[in-house]
Amino acid sequence: MLWMLRGLFYLIWAAGAMAGTFAFENRKAAVPTLERAGMVYFQLDPVLQTLNLLREPYRAGKGFQVVHQDRLLVLGEDSPFVILDGEIQQMEAPPVVEGGQLFMPAGFFTGPLARLVDGQIRLTGTTLALTDLKLAEPPTLSAVEVHYLGGFTKAVLVFKQDVAFTVKEGSRQVLIQFPKPVRYAGRPLQFDDPLVESCLVKDKQVLLTLKQENTSLSTYSLSNPFRIVLDIARGRTRSSRGAESAPPSRFLVILDPGHGGEDLGAKGRTGALEKEITLAIALRMAPLLAKSGVEALLTRTADTAVGLDERAGFANNRKGNLFLSLHLNAHKLNHARGSETFFMSLDAGTETAPAEEGQLLTGNSPLEFILWDLAQTEYLKDSARFAERVQEEMDRLYGMEKRGVKQAPFKVLAGVTMPAALVEIGFLTNPEEEKRLVGEVFQEQVAQALVRAVLRFKEEIGERWRTAAH
Ligand SMILES: [Zn+2]
Repeated sequence: MLWMLRGLFYLIWAAGAMAGTFAFENRKAAVPTLERAGMVYFQLDPVLQTLNLLREPYRAGKGFQVVHQDRLLVLGEDSPFVILDGEIQQMEAPPVVEGGQLFMPAGFFTGPLARLVDGQIRLTGTTLALTDLKLAEPPTLSAVEVHYLGGFTKAVLVFKQDVAFTVKEGSRQVLIQFPKPVRYAGRPLQFDDPLVESCLVKDKQVLLTLKQENTSLSTYSLSNPFRIVLDIARGRTRSSRGAESAPPSRFLVILDPGHGGEDLGAKGRTGALEKEITLAIALRMAPLLAKSGVEALLTRTADTAVGLDERAGFANNRKGNLFLSLHLNAHKLNHARGSETFFMSLDAGTETAPAEEGQLLTGNSPLEFILWDLAQTEYLKDSARFAERVQEEMDRLYGMEKRGVKQAPFKVLAGVTMPAALVEIGFLTNPEEEKRLVGEVFQEQVAQALVRAVLRFKEEIGERWRTAAH
């Protein structure tokens, strides 16, 4: 019966379909559209054909990729997320598949696709028009921020609109180039920063002058508002984009101390704060790992607010081999104790996960988990294995029975393209645990236990991490 109903529904719905248009230079292509819940969707393939672009399967999963020059756009049939050059963007709705054809919401074309082709796409009624860059608005730089985060400097260029850019590295300079002259009302900037000396905006370029040679650079962009983020660290120069074929020579762990800044996380009875303890433990882990030949980078090294997407973006751009997010638990029952370790799973239920605000992929639809499908499927087994090692070491520390790891849709894990786990180190709502967790002795013990888990995982996967895809 169901197929009949679906067929009937399709007929009714198809009768309401409208003809759309995609306009580009002198070309105009008819694009079938459809309307769902008051929103217009455009069939993807005719638009791509007009632009001489191709939709191909993405790796082995259900996703697709569209490549333009050195840029990569990944999308999924059921996912409201797309990934452009490693950056996750959310559309107003997931795509719709009808009659074997893929229809994308209008925001896909005006947002990610426009950025892929370095143009502007405007929607008028059922017409999408791609404007040549020459006619597009000039990029307007509204602020330049430079923050030293202990070991590296984060320089952020904030723009009024999305802009295309390329980055070139000189020996003591970083040159960010734009297709049009950049508008900037401010003066040339000098910084009191260990790594960045000055910033000069001139014509189609923004030039950052560094205080020393031999730095490494990692570049990515963020939306709302559009920001170009440059992480500049001491060390050998490494290109931020483009395929480097040489296998990585070091195992890199990204440690993610939960919360920070105004986001305090859980709070103990005597005022202990999750954001402070997670950072203290991560800061203890880094030198312990270094002693074992494992490099560690922290998503924050101070009491600063860092968004979840930004944490994942940092990990992906740094090409980490392993990601560990550190948190503390809270529970209504103050006798709840011990550790819990989570990894991401498509089938994850949310009922067992600690309800930390903003941490879970909640949303209205389980379709959001498809993001995990796109970014994380190939790491599922390794993430589960790593979570198990973490849980074993933590149970040993607490003198508890071996407990299994859990699966939950944590947002910060969903965006990470490497094996990843999240550990709730202990319960800050348990007065006894709170007392221990604020103490240096226990923090050091936790750091040692987590480092053991990392080293065991590294040992078990052997040399496989050298060739892992990113
Ligand atoms: Zn937390």
